[in-house]
Amino acid sequence: MFFYLIIFLHICKGHYIMKIMPGRILIIGCGGQIGTPLTNKLTELYGSRQILLSDIKPVDTPLDFVQLDVTDKNTLFETVKKYDVKEVYLLAALLSATAEKKPAEGWKINMEGLFNVLHLAKDKYIEKIFWPSSIAIFGPTTPKKNTPQHTVVEPVTVYGISKYAGELWCQYYHQKYGVDVRSLRYPGLISYDAPPGGGTTDYAVEIFHYAIKKQHYTCFLKPDTRLPMMYMPDAIHATISLMESSYEKIRNRMSYNIHAFDFTPQEIFNEIKKHIPEFTIDYQPDFRQQIADSWPQSIDDTEARNDWGWQPKYSFSVMVEDMIKNLQQKILKNV
Ligand code: NAD
Repeated sequence: MFFYLIIFLHICKGHYIMKIMPGRILIIGCGGQIGTPLTNKLTELYGSRQILLSDIKPVDTPLDFVQLDVTDKNTLFETVKKYDVKEVYLLAALLSATAEKKPAEGWKINMEGLFNVLHLAKDKYIEKIFWPSSIAIFGPTTPKKNTPQHTVVEPVTVYGISKYAGELWCQYYHQKYGVDVRSLRYPGLISYDAPPGGGTTDYAVEIFHYAIKKQHYTCFLKPDTRLPMMYMPDAIHATISLMESSYEKIRNRMSYNIHAFDFTPQEIFNEIKKHIPEFTIDYQPDFRQQIADSWPQSIDDTEARNDWGWQPKYSFSVMVEDMIKNLQQKILKNV
């Protein structure tokens, strides 16, 4: 009897309990930098049968997968109905550097994809949406240090304009139609799971790959370009905490500022060098410098902390150590 009680208590600690969901969770853009670790975490929490993946490109996965373009409204609607989808994580987008090269395409994917998903919620096919915004909504006129939640917002990139317009549409659909849409303004995200997808902060991931392979790195930003950043496990933790918070706690229906740490290319180079002393770097800024110069250096995330208890777990130095360890293991496995 005592033995069974111990097993029961162990299960109740939560580690082995799968959360029960009515209907499925659809991740759109599952094959990208955020989609890959988010899929792993949601599968761990809800079980593989609850998850439906989709992307415009084929993705190698044992989970149920539908290849679709998020701008194709009919296929998206059919998929949601067929698989009884109730929650959507909409990650499909063109990121800052790519959208700057393909403005019309960037606007189309970033806006039409969001509208299609918002319509599904307005028509009551789905119950909850996660849609990420970005620090790119801020522009050169925004205060750069400890950028407040509510401040001057004049983005100067296609990506930033699309994200800010998206935030306003999320708020509109919430106020007008009661859509439960939740959003975070991610800073630059650093991850070992999947390569970055064409953003201005991609250097902060690339630099690790070069360091571990003992190759010289040429950075596309100036050495003193300070930007807000976050380790991917914290971004995933923030995303799921936001989605699991009770409805009343989410008082901001545009998008929450979240912050972990900020650094410059020179600072991350110095930190990596503590672990890999032979690493070398030089700097050849390209068009991404102008984008980075228009963004904040650090973010005030008091509202997220107060409303739904956001708190990052990883500091800058712990992130660097963990990245090197995990990336080394990953590279060794693939050799
Ligand atoms: P990513 O480029 O790595 O992944 C995006 C995925 O979407 C890719 O797998 C791509 O194939 C897919 N996709 C592109 N167009 C599509 C379409 N028309 N239909 C269906 N799928 C399509 O991007 P990410 O880094 O994973 O970012 C995900 C979201 O988070 C985006 O909205 C991005 O703007 C936002 N964000 C990311 C960062 C970051 O540092 N990675 C920072 C701020 C905000």
